[in-house]
Amino acid sequence: MTFKELNLTAPILKAVDRQGYTTPTPIQQKAIPMLLQKRDLIGCAQTGTGKTAAFALPILQNLAVERKKGIKALILTPTRELAIQIQENFEYYGTYLPLRCTVIFGGVSQVPQVERLGRGVDILIATPGRLCDLINQGYVDISQIEVFVLDEADRMLDMGFIRDVKKILNILPKERQTLLFSATMPKEIEALANTILHDPVTVKVDPVTSTASSILQHVYLIDKGNKRRLLAKLLRGREVGSALVFTRTKHAADKVVKELAEVGMVAMAIHGNKSQNARQDALKRFKSGDIKILVATDIAARGIDIPELSHVFNYELPNEPETYIHRIGRTGRAGLGGVAISFCDYDEIPYLKDIEKLMGQTIPEEKSEWPMTILQKTEKAPQKRYGFGNPHTTATAKPRRPHAPATDPFSYARPHGESPKQYSRAAGSRKRRER
Ligand code: AMP
Repeated sequence: MTFKELNLTAPILKAVDRQGYTTPTPIQQKAIPMLLQKRDLIGCAQTGTGKTAAFALPILQNLAVERKKGIKALILTPTRELAIQIQENFEYYGTYLPLRCTVIFGGVSQVPQVERLGRGVDILIATPGRLCDLINQGYVDISQIEVFVLDEADRMLDMGFIRDVKKILNILPKERQTLLFSATMPKEIEALANTILHDPVTVKVDPVTSTASSILQHVYLIDKGNKRRLLAKLLRGREVGSALVFTRTKHAADKVVKELAEVGMVAMAIHGNKSQNARQDALKRFKSGDIKILVATDIAARGIDIPELSHVFNYELPNEPETYIHRIGRTGRAGLGGVAISFCDYDEIPYLKDIEKLMGQTIPEEKSEWPMTILQKTEKAPQKRYGFGNPHTTATAKPRRPHAPATDPFSYARPHGESPKQYSRAAGSRKRRER
């Protein structure tokens, strides 16, 4: 299939061609015809599937024939980086159209944003907090919105933005086209979708439990104290072009940057404690190839699109298995190959098990010169790991013993002896602290 067969008009086709896209991705093939007909849509799409163009192209095409003044399309997205990226995409795809698009997000002065809004805008990309602020101050009028896109709805929920989203929904015109994108469909999002969408089409592309097959994954079982050595060693490898290194906390991100500097390697960190300008500067330098290593927390890295990213390192495994898929989806984008390398220490073994269970596959283990010491003492342990989560091999795997003694590393399901409920609550608050 070609873009022309999707009934896109000449200015859009020209812009798409200039981007070097030859074939629409599956989500584009499925969503664009529906959106051109102004249908509501639920898009379940993995990161890197081309979903931004899937909604941006038909929105631009439909709005290009409009004559009305005011903001006609609103795209709400959870993070600043993602908002900037979506705006850049709208700019590229709308190069040959007379539509104005702008982006607003928190963490920076509102003055330039208000000035741009004052000059007139057709398409607004926003994060929820800044949008609510500017609506309250009377700088943004969303009463003329014809298309509303709720992007990364599951992340909105995770990041505690759902109340802001609901406030915004309350003042949007009832007559509108609504698009909801979410990598996963938690119950709350499903309930929200049922109330805000009208007779939607559902487009599913690769559920979140599947990772792009072009990504090569390995895991190293390693003691916490040796991770820094292994990271430096692997980063020196010739095949590493550009590497995004994930940590769970801001503190750990800064520590990794410092430790790499100690061995003469230049890296920069992006996380919630850095100013927006510092984050953008680091991202710009990383994208331009000026620095090869970017260390990031999950929230800060959300939405980063670096087409040539060769490696993702999980320096610390995420405590939510879906996050692993989001992280490694930063590489292997739009069908390109990529490598995802994870470091798993003793305390993170439960996280690894959860990830493998979600994906229904075992991540192949790679051995380093610094193996996890506890595994050297208990020879049986690695065998228990294999087969976990893989429906074809679980029959041979030893069942998990919830109350097994703590000396067995694989019974160490939840840190600090928490119950599953306490653990999941604590995971939520750990995440909020991280932000
Ligand atoms: P997204 O999922 O929207 O973040 O897009 C992921 C990456 O795919 C971005 O770098 C896009 O520029 C790229 N992309 C989007 N559509 C296509 C396409 N049809 N062909 C090739 N690359 C694409």
